[in-house]
Amino acid sequence: MGFKLPELNFSYDALEPSIDARTMEIHHSKHHNGYTNNLNNAIQGTSLDSSTIESILVDLDMDNKGLRNNAGGYYNHNLFFENLAPKSDLKPSDTLNIAFQRDFGTFESFKQKFISTASNHIGSGWTWLILNKDGKLEIIQTNNQDNPLMKDALIKGKPLLNIDTWEHAYYLQYQNRKLDYIRKVFELLNWDLISKKYDALILK
Ligand code: MN
Repeated sequence: MGFKLPELNFSYDALEPSIDARTMEIHHSKHHNGYTNNLNNAIQGTSLDSSTIESILVDLDMDNKGLRNNAGGYYNHNLFFENLAPKSDLKPSDTLNIAFQRDFGTFESFKQKFISTASNHIGSGWTWLILNKDGKLEIIQTNNQDNPLMKDALIKGKPLLNIDTWEHAYYLQYQNRKLDYIRKVFELLNWDLISKKYDALILK
């Protein structure tokens, strides 16, 4: 039993030149794998052993720092990696595009706001697009491996996409050029998949 490290839908070099193969390999096979193994060690033999990752996060005791870090790290990287696509020239569906227009004016204004929010985040963390409790799209940030499913999250919601702004996500290739990394990774987003996730969330 336990959680498995999801395989990527592409090879480690498939996102070059936006994300180099070495960064992808270390990020997936070391960092993401580490969160996966630590999560499994933390829940082995406990009542959480057969839980879904979502229910572990929703019910998490925020004082349990090890589980908070590793369950968050597992979920956050699952979402991040599955939402990337090599040479993505994909666009949001009409339904999602209308939601961007409703909540941000245009897709382009969403994009600029998302990129500037991510680049202004201080320290290790994530920037998210969520569907909030009012059914609106909202950009939020979390620190470390926290995420918007956790009960003490400042703003809770259902995640659609996230971008990792921990230094391990970009430093080998981009060093201090965090904004360049964020701009490039934004262009890799798989809008076909994200649009399907949005459809699934609004139908619930
Ligand atoms: Mn990471």
